Amino acid sequence: MKRATTLFAAAGTLGSALTLGPAPAHADTVTPDIAAIGTIVTASTGLNTRIGPSSASSRIGALTNGTTIAISCRVAGEFITGSVTNTGYWDRLADNSFISDAFVQRESTDIPKCATTAIAIPAVSGIWMLPVRAGLVSGFRTVERPVHDGVDLGAARNTAIRSASAGTVIRVVCNVSRGSCDVDGSRSLRGCGWYVEVQHADGIVTRYCHMIRQPSVAVGQVVGRGTVLGHVGTSGSSSGPHLHFEVHVGAPATRANAVSPIDFMSAVGLTFGSA
Ligand SMILES: [Zn+2]
Repeated sequence: MKRATTLFAAAGTLGSALTLGPAPAHADTVTPDIAAIGTIVTASTGLNTRIGPSSASSRIGALTNGTTIAISCRVAGEFITGSVTNTGYWDRLADNSFISDAFVQRESTDIPKCATTAIAIPAVSGIWMLPVRAGLVSGFRTVERPVHDGVDLGAARNTAIRSASAGTVIRVVCNVSRGSCDVDGSRSLRGCGWYVEVQHADGIVTRYCHMIRQPSVAVGQVVGRGTVLGHVGTSGSSSGPHLHFEVHVGAPATRANAVSPIDFMSAVGLTFGSA
């Protein structure tokens, strides 16, 4: 892939330092080791296993009461009141599925945090498309930008940004550390600028950042694949017009449930263009 030379700021609500745009890179695949053995304790018919650390993440299967499990690592997710404890931690099992640790009887061993890149790309329903036709100028959590939770797509100012699949708009926000989202941002600011989140089937959330002006959709609006959400700009922590695009497996979208948009789109048969 062509090495990007353009400067693009990191985005995301956490903000992050600007770095030189690196060549896109895929997230590493992490082979899970067993950190702890536990037993499922549930009074109901079964404890759901999910693709991400929240009850909004789509269900993979279920484990019955008394099942012995091998835990690889844990991540912070939705807080759950369970039959063993109350906790926001979710355990990742050897098959990359997640269960709430609130239903796990185990020795009080320290379970290591999962590498943030290790959430499996789920099988998703629906029809998908790329939000803009543009080159990929910065990848997901590259070595140079480990906290870059999305991809940067080098679309021109005012390019229409389209919903990647059908869903419901769940956020329309101006997120900037100071000033306005209606003006060009800069590397000295933090935040995603004008941005939109859309929730899709299977608990998938997509996020679209740095729009040029207030997005043209509203929270609660049902959108189709291809509905225009807004237009490319450079609001917030951004040094030039581009779309910063994120994919999350679970709502709300958090750093813990961000997955590589490159891998996600690849799983639905789509490839971002090269710059
Ligand atoms: Zn970005």
